[in-house]
Amino acid sequence: MEKNVDTMEKVVSLCKRRGFVFQGSDIYGGLKGTWDFGPLGVTLNNNIKREWWKMFVEGREDIYGIDAAILMNAKVWETSGHVAGFFDPLVEDVETGERFRADHLLKDLGINADGLSLTEIDNLIIEHKVLSPKGNKVSAARQFNMMFESRIGATAGDEGKVYLRPETAQGMFVNFKNVLDSMSPKMPFGLAQIGKAFRNEIAPREFVFRVREFEQMEIEYFVKEEQWREEFEKLRLAIQKWHDHIGLAPENIREYEVPDNDLAHYSKRTIDFEYNYPGKGFDELAGFAYRTNHDLKAHMNASGVSMEYIEPDGTRYVPHVLEPSFGVGRAFMAILCEAYTEDEMGGEVRTYLKLPKHLAPYKVAVSPLLKNKPALVEKARSVFSVLKETFGTVAWDDNGNVGKRYRRQDEIGTPHCVTIDFDTLGEEKPELKDTVTVRDRDTGQQTRVAIAELVSYLK
Ligand code: ATP
Repeated sequence: MEKNVDTMEKVVSLCKRRGFVFQGSDIYGGLKGTWDFGPLGVTLNNNIKREWWKMFVEGREDIYGIDAAILMNAKVWETSGHVAGFFDPLVEDVETGERFRADHLLKDLGINADGLSLTEIDNLIIEHKVLSPKGNKVSAARQFNMMFESRIGATAGDEGKVYLRPETAQGMFVNFKNVLDSMSPKMPFGLAQIGKAFRNEIAPREFVFRVREFEQMEIEYFVKEEQWREEFEKLRLAIQKWHDHIGLAPENIREYEVPDNDLAHYSKRTIDFEYNYPGKGFDELAGFAYRTNHDLKAHMNASGVSMEYIEPDGTRYVPHVLEPSFGVGRAFMAILCEAYTEDEMGGEVRTYLKLPKHLAPYKVAVSPLLKNKPALVEKARSVFSVLKETFGTVAWDDNGNVGKRYRRQDEIGTPHCVTIDFDTLGEEKPELKDTVTVRDRDTGQQTRVAIAELVSYLK
């Protein structure tokens, strides 16, 4: 099935209709750049995060999890360079005052403005007669800091100033020494964290792709300087394996090697993992950067706390770091776009989410054939309870006819539907007593399975 801009619209509409994602603060007209995850969305998100944690933390010996506070001492962000340099270039529509990212307006015209100065951006805007999406002239570009500021406690002035973290990464750098002292890790080792991050994006857009509040899953992997190339390769393969695990087709993933002149001054190599979002094309899904020992050194100098690792033979050094950084929302969107499928079944077009089983919000749905037959409902309830105990997320669906139930479950990606019918009760065919129909989402095939074997069959 060819996927295009319509596919994206259909995914967004399915997300709202079926309880995956709602506009944030919807009843008050929304709050731009925020989205609320509904019952199915939060489950899919939790599944993504759980699988990630299993793969990168529990599945390895060399990566430790942490969960740092969102609010951090403002000195963290002064030292990391975010206060002085976490900017995006902003232009205004001179008629309406609407604000846009200058580099995005240029990118829409096929011009790459990454890493350019404001003057260079202004020159490009003039040269290419760049207009706002409404067709009006735009102002000169200026820098806009993307960190949200707040104040802590009752202090006045700058003492109480705090920032909502724009990345989870710094929480790992500032806990590097704590982990060394408490866990005595052997090099190379990593820290991993999943949590919210906030960026005051100038122009949030494209559903959950660019938002002001989002979740990141990040790793800081500490290595000896001379190890970085070898460890970079290993982590690159681990990232590829992750994308495969969440069901993204290799042909929809591109590794974009950021050219040297676009690299941050402290980075020696960065790869953007891009996904081919339908109707949008390849854009960043995750980032992977070699950041030298810039961050640890900066925190060591600013805090006066040593960030040195001491080898058993007494050699001391400030480790270098490799940083794989994933956005949960961007993975969520890629997974849904990849899974969205339309085919024909029983002479009708059907829509279904071909989600990997470990990500599907419901593992299985249970229905009595008819909801007004107490014997069927009672039996179905008992099957439901057993499955719920094992799988947790099990749907109960007794609305409409069986065909409609299958379509509804297909649309949210439930891999199996279990139906309890008169044969289950063994009224006419005693040999079928205590068996149920299990229907497969992808093939529509129905199989008769004994209730006693249902859990192992579904597993
Ligand atoms: P972009 O160039 O798309 O703005 P970035 O290079 O600034 O992204 P990083 O700072 O590398 O992004 O952040 C790591 C990851 O966090 C990104 O790969 C993305 O998955 C996610 N992310 C960053 N900004 C946002 C946002 N505003 N909304 C949703 N996810 C985001």
